[in-house]
Amino acid sequence: MLLLAPPGAGKGTQGERLAAWLGVRHIAAGDLLRAEAQAGTARGREIAACQARGDLVPDQIVFGLLIPVVVEAAARGGYILDGFPRTLAQATAAAELGTRLDVTLQVVVSLSAPEAVLTKRLLARAGQEGRADDTADVIRHRLQVFTETTGPLIAYYQDRGILVTVDADQPPDAVTAEIQDRLSGLSLAPQGGLVRLGRTGSRPVSLPLRNLAGVCENPQVDMDRPAVAELMSEVAAAVTRRVDVVREDVYETIVREIPQLRDDKPVLALLASSVDSNVDTCLQIMQHRIDLSAVPAPAAAVEYARRLAQRGTPLTALLRAYRVGHACFTDWVLKELAQHPADAETVSAATLSMSRVVAGYIDHISEQMVEAYGQEREIWLRNRSAARAARIRNLLSGERIDVSAAEVTLGYRLRQYHVGVVCWAGDAAGTTEEITRLERATSHVAGEAGCHGDPLFLPRDESSAWAWLPLGGRDEFDAAAADKAEMDDDIHFAFGDVAKGTKGFRVTHQQAIAAQAVALAAGSPAPRAVTFSQVAPVAMMLTSRELLRPWVLSTLAGLATDDEHHARLRETLLVFLHSGGSYKTTAERLMLHKNTVQYRVRKAQESIGRPLGDNRGDIELALRATHWLGSSVLGPATASDAESPRARSG
Ligand code: AMP
Repeated sequence: MLLLAPPGAGKGTQGERLAAWLGVRHIAAGDLLRAEAQAGTARGREIAACQARGDLVPDQIVFGLLIPVVVEAAARGGYILDGFPRTLAQATAAAELGTRLDVTLQVVVSLSAPEAVLTKRLLARAGQEGRADDTADVIRHRLQVFTETTGPLIAYYQDRGILVTVDADQPPDAVTAEIQDRLSGLSLAPQGGLVRLGRTGSRPVSLPLRNLAGVCENPQVDMDRPAVAELMSEVAAAVTRRVDVVREDVYETIVREIPQLRDDKPVLALLASSVDSNVDTCLQIMQHRIDLSAVPAPAAAVEYARRLAQRGTPLTALLRAYRVGHACFTDWVLKELAQHPADAETVSAATLSMSRVVAGYIDHISEQMVEAYGQEREIWLRNRSAARAARIRNLLSGERIDVSAAEVTLGYRLRQYHVGVVCWAGDAAGTTEEITRLERATSHVAGEAGCHGDPLFLPRDESSAWAWLPLGGRDEFDAAAADKAEMDDDIHFAFGDVAKGTKGFRVTHQQAIAAQAVALAAGSPAPRAVTFSQVAPVAMMLTSRELLRPWVLSTLAGLATDDEHHARLRETLLVFLHSGGSYKTTAERLMLHKNTVQYRVRKAQESIGRPLGDNRGDIELALRATHWLGSSVLGPATASDAESPRARSG
């Protein structure tokens, strides 16, 4: 959409409102020119002089500033152009640009008001905004320029049947309402890169660079004309003469815009080299028309991508650097283009040709960057896991180590309370997903236990892993909460006790390993979670496994028979001993009748073949061993041991 209006008709206000309504960018030629004038460059001074006189600014300057903004806005969903075109030559260039960007001009809104009204408004605005061109003489001249040079455009667009004239001599809200009303009455075809009427919100749609490069390629327009190629080459040569400033500006802009890239000195130096070589290469491609496909990515750029991968800087930051650098570099090239006098058609073709080269270059190089980054990340992750595993081995072997360095490698604070964990999958399918499942389950347990930060996780093999849960300054851990956490049934945990610092790191881990040994020795199904404190004596007994079973058999005698009847007697006797020999408490804990407890305790003693007496401690330990280790420490069931019907019902 174009907004055509004499000075003072309110096209700035209406343009902004319409852009917000349609969710597209509002591009005001006058504003862009004024911003450049304020920058105080040579070109800026020329613009300021034209504007102060009320004359039009030369076309190549206008194109140089406007075209990059239009190209970008087209890629983001469309635009409203205000104050451009102002001449028939500009109208032709605007149409051509639209065609190349796949944006069709659908409607031209012309705001009209009597000259006296416009003059009065502009003089009033002079008091508020202090614009240099709002003096009586200049206003008169600007209105005259409008009538003479821009006026013919009204007929031009009317002939094409796309002109909508709105009376601007009414309050701004009424003008807005009338424009919206008139536009809503039109049936405008929505299409790629076009303004869509009635669209709400203004989410920019970002177009991949490749598409942008494609958009600029239009077979109908001969961008390869010798004059265009020559102009591009001249511009590239001119930018090359001031390449130091350009490189620095691109570098500074990237560092300013992307905080993630503000790294230490060596990495920043690499970024600077990467920018330098990209700027140089791109200029050479433009100057000498080198075939892009044959251009390899500069070594510094590849190295920089690798370094970011090693540091874990996201790839999106690197790609953003290319986008930001692209915009900044394009700006320099187009600013330079504006200094080279040429006819509008050549300027416009050269602009698009250069945009195509730069976008194509960025697209081509970023693909190589993505590849370099991905490869490096993979290698680095592999090495990092190896480095972490080595550190953990050092810690566990009790070697003297540099604690701070180890903390950095592990990404885990050693100087805190932790709980060692061993986790494993019961039905070991042995896939990489198994490890992911274990890692997720460990994180879940850490979450349930209110841990500070992520657990340290080290895969051991395809279906088991070691981990440490960080407790910070807290010296308690509720394994029961972890046990209750909703998780896959076939995942098992063994926990050490809470322990502090580097030494504690080792001890709690050893405890977890010992607890796991108990869980595994128990045979299947292994308990879901076991803590070292529950099984400590049994775990230690397991270290003399060959002595353990004979000892249990001699201590418990017939009570160590591996059948259900004796299992019941053993459990009852264990609880009875834990309860300090109270039948009542045992009955409550097991939810049995007191008589049943008395019967079972008597039967258990009979099986042992002697009174509990002084041997109580040993019997309790042996019972704990049978509780956790089951069949592996029991004697075979014999015919004479088989339970009687009465015992079964008891
Ligand atoms: P505006 O803000 O639209 O009133 O424009 C202010 C001044 O900027 C004009 O008087 C011209 O000097 C300059 N200008 C704005 N748009 C154009 C254009 N399309 N072509 C040339 N000069 C322009």
